[in-house]
Amino acid sequence: MIKKYKTNHVKEHKKQQHCVTCNRYVTYDERYPDYVCKKCVELAIDKGGKSVTFFNITDSGHGCQGKYVDDGKLCRGTTCFIKGVRCFAEEAYFGGIVIRPFKRNRKAGDILEKLGSLEP
Ligand SMILES: [Zn+2]
Repeated sequence: MIKKYKTNHVKEHKKQQHCVTCNRYVTYDERYPDYVCKKCVELAIDKGGKSVTFFNITDSGHGCQGKYVDDGKLCRGTTCFIKGVRCFAEEAYFGGIVIRPFKRNRKAGDILEKLGSLEP
């Protein structure tokens, strides 16, 4: 998926980015060039395979807390796995939550192969 560009000028290719875990086209974000799309965020699980979701601690959009989808219990940490890719959630700059991979991966497929499937 890596395109060759004629120049290295930022303006030439700044409006394109893809979800790191499914490669779907997502809205370009200068601050978060590797964020996970909404569809994939719904697939987030903890290391035990339980579905987790993340939300802001305050109404004004600050803080980041995770909770289990099934029982609503809060979970510790902001690490999660999406399609086998280890990710972390954080408070987004403009409020809300953004989830990104720990390691910026050029090809999600490579990482998936290495980690194997984490499907329950
Ligand atoms: Zn995605």
